[in-house]
Amino acid sequence: MTNNSILISTFYIVFTILSSNIGTAQSEADKVSSSITMDRVKGHLTFIASDELMGRNVGTPGIETAAMYIKSQLMSYGVNAAPSMDGFFQNIPLVTLDPPSGGRILINGNEFTLPNDFVIIGGSNIEAERSFSFADFNEEDQITSEKLKDKIVVSICGDGTTQSVQGWFYQSKEKIAKLKSIGAAGLIELYQSNKVPFKFLKQQFNRTQTTLKEDESDDFLHIWMDAGDENKVAELKEEGTVGLSIEVPEYKSIASKNVVGYVEGTDPDLRDEYIVYSAHYDHVGVGKPDSNQDSIYNGARDNGVGVTAILELARNVAMYPTKRSAIFVFFTAEEKGLLGSNYFVENAPVALEDIVYNFNIDNGGYNDTTIVSVVGLERTTAEDHIQSACNAFGLEGIEDPAKEEGLFDRSDNVNFAKKGIPAPTFSLGFRAFDAEIFKYYHQPSDEESSLNFGYLLKYFKSYALSARLIADAPSAPFWISGDKYYEDGVKLYKREQE
Ligand SMILES: [Zn+2]
Repeated sequence: MTNNSILISTFYIVFTILSSNIGTAQSEADKVSSSITMDRVKGHLTFIASDELMGRNVGTPGIETAAMYIKSQLMSYGVNAAPSMDGFFQNIPLVTLDPPSGGRILINGNEFTLPNDFVIIGGSNIEAERSFSFADFNEEDQITSEKLKDKIVVSICGDGTTQSVQGWFYQSKEKIAKLKSIGAAGLIELYQSNKVPFKFLKQQFNRTQTTLKEDESDDFLHIWMDAGDENKVAELKEEGTVGLSIEVPEYKSIASKNVVGYVEGTDPDLRDEYIVYSAHYDHVGVGKPDSNQDSIYNGARDNGVGVTAILELARNVAMYPTKRSAIFVFFTAEEKGLLGSNYFVENAPVALEDIVYNFNIDNGGYNDTTIVSVVGLERTTAEDHIQSACNAFGLEGIEDPAKEEGLFDRSDNVNFAKKGIPAPTFSLGFRAFDAEIFKYYHQPSDEESSLNFGYLLKYFKSYALSARLIADAPSAPFWISGDKYYEDGVKLYKREQE
């Protein structure tokens, strides 16, 4: 008897604890399961990835229609405009710039022509002779007004600390700021890289670029010149006179926008913390036809799937608000170089230190319908939440299996990470970035009709439940100690060092 009664009471306690845990987990999963249905997700994807939207390229009517669709969906769910915004659209000043139509540089009878010998990164039309002077930016006494005022400054790309061409590009911006302040007339940088040969750079610059419009009056001449032939550029490393003849087409402004929605959190202590749920809604438009003569790049996976996930999460959170506040962002111009998210983090509707997490979703394709690939899964402490949410719908979360692709740095999450905000990207399941992925990735075949909706439904639910678990957890997730962005996070949130 005694033994038996102890057994019963132990069983009773264990059962009560278990069932109360299951009770909460269950009801969160139920909130997700009951609101996200097959009809709904098919409806979104059929619209977003339809031929009528012509691949949602920035600057076309198709992407504007997508923006209107997203906005009207958010409004119908009862989602609000974000704090400090007077509507759902965050307008972004983008410009397109056609490649320069002509350019010649003459130095002591040596002629350099566009685009074989140099590329123009910034500047306006010029037909003039100017004196130039070589300068080393690592030597402070060489960068002075006495030496360089009104001159074209010649220097070497970068500052010697990195071989990354993108790094050089950012260093150029700092150099130019300095040169402007001392009244220099332009900057020619000598380019030599073993990573990116000049001929690739040339191709990159010799097509229409879309970029964020920076300073309106920015016509500061900035050139990268091929320094592969040392003899040819030797004279540029001294002083003299340079003849410049350059024709630069006018910028064309284009309208584009991020779409932003907001649901306030329910917890008086946690509602001042915001989680940004994001997906880009642009794609690459119309292009080279495939073997079926299809030229519309529908972008169902990339990133109609992400748009659908955020729409359905927004609807779910509007129905069942979470403890933390939620900001839903649909970025434009991801495909042009993460421009929409770049603008967003520089012009966020709330203070960046109040954004505790960015849970981005972006998709190249999938080759395994039993998993979710989360780029950066192991890099933040939200891993357990994401894993248990995936498990709740029969999926398994795995870390980015194709690190060589640099995917963490190729989607909008990285603009948050650079500010210190923990930011992984949720993606359809792939074990490798292989032929099965490339069959659809940035191809006309990336259509809604080729999707496995049984898998997708589980995927959308996993994303939404992950979001809910993160948004309701007692403490916000953070970078794993030792991560590349850990220190930036410590600084942003003024955290104690661990
Ligand atoms: Zn994408």
